[in-house]
Amino acid sequence: MTTSRNDLDAWWMPFTANRDPRMIASAEGMHYRTPDGRQLLDGISGLWCCNAGHNRAPIVAAIQHQAAQLDYAPPFQFGHEGAFALASRIAALAPGDLDHVFFCNSGSEAIDTALKIALAYRHARGEGGRTRLIGRERAYHGTGFGGISVGGLPANRKAFGHGLSGIDHLPHTYDREHQAFSIGEPEWGAHLADELERIVALNDASTICAVIVEPMAGSTGVLAPPKGYLQRLRAICDRHGILLIFDEVITGFGRLGFAFAAERFGVTPDMICFAKGVTNGTVPLGGVIVGEEIHTALMQGPERAIELFHGYTYSGHPLACAAGLAALDLYRDAGLFARARAVEPVFAQAVMSLREEPNVLDIRVVGLAAAIELASRTDMAGTRGYDAMVQAFNENDLVIRISGDTLTLCPALIVSEDEIGELIEKTRAVLRAVA
Ligand code: PMP
Repeated sequence: MTTSRNDLDAWWMPFTANRDPRMIASAEGMHYRTPDGRQLLDGISGLWCCNAGHNRAPIVAAIQHQAAQLDYAPPFQFGHEGAFALASRIAALAPGDLDHVFFCNSGSEAIDTALKIALAYRHARGEGGRTRLIGRERAYHGTGFGGISVGGLPANRKAFGHGLSGIDHLPHTYDREHQAFSIGEPEWGAHLADELERIVALNDASTICAVIVEPMAGSTGVLAPPKGYLQRLRAICDRHGILLIFDEVITGFGRLGFAFAAERFGVTPDMICFAKGVTNGTVPLGGVIVGEEIHTALMQGPERAIELFHGYTYSGHPLACAAGLAALDLYRDAGLFARARAVEPVFAQAVMSLREEPNVLDIRVVGLAAAIELASRTDMAGTRGYDAMVQAFNENDLVIRISGDTLTLCPALIVSEDEIGELIEKTRAVLRAVA
């Protein structure tokens, strides 16, 4: 059977709206190359994951070496050095006593894993009534049943039944009237964390297990936490013995200039979910970093009566761990997190220079992440507006993400000032062309 570019029946691509993919053949640094030789500037680090740019030689070499050495090790029976080494390295980067790493293969699995660890922790402590999980509107936590249940995206929930039971949602933290064109944490909105008190009052803390939030909501439009919001959430969780979980699938490994957003915002959660950047996007790997108390509760049960009955065939896969170790070495040796901090003001100014362009309603920037929100699709002539925009970005050889009415830019942490300029001027050209 021959496959062609348009043979989408054979590969049922994720999110079936993707019916006309542009083909790419290779990648290096900040660029992709198409089969016909065009070079595309990658403005979104793969998909928020290739934080050090594409096809970095030390990571490629580490994967090749590992594949020739030990292709697979069954994690229910055997350990191997790479998994222990990577877990230690990740624990060392994480704040507080988050010292134990459970490996899985993706962000979605990391969310399911964290929710299950939270529930198992309650069970182990004889608090089996504390099963309620609290997410947030406009949250994206992947596509597992756990993730879509605590997530806050109607489109990702509506066709899939009721999801998990006993779920509540905090309100999202975005309000254009008070926050438009904000750089970093908006001044307005810390009080929205108090909604957790309302949920506690309604249901009683004795029914509540955990709260999960993205410290910065990424794929739903770069929503930085309002100043003081995460601190307030932490305080309310502490007051009522509720676990706080950060989904750092996007923010982990440098996107906001630190290993984790927890460090940038000065709030330590009880668990951190990660994926994407841990291997620079090369080999699928995710995980959950867990604090001492939770780990102890699940590991020190009498005569091993308490265990975590959870895991994956590919937990701690040797190739993924080799890629992870090489990626962390690269981030450290190139000082990429500090570099992201240094470039952030340049990036922010450049993106904000688009505020007077046609259809721009709002721009939000934090770290090396930016969202440009446009007047609604109805104003952009509905689907035609979307298609025209996709085409215009293609013609400009620029890869960015268009979700609904929002354009997202999140370049690799190696992006040069010239490349930031190119990214912005091409985006400006597109906004003008589509207007
Ligand atoms: N959480 C967040 C915050 C994400 O942005 C994503 C993916 N973009 C996920 C979870 C799910 O990750 P994956 O696609 O690897 O399952």
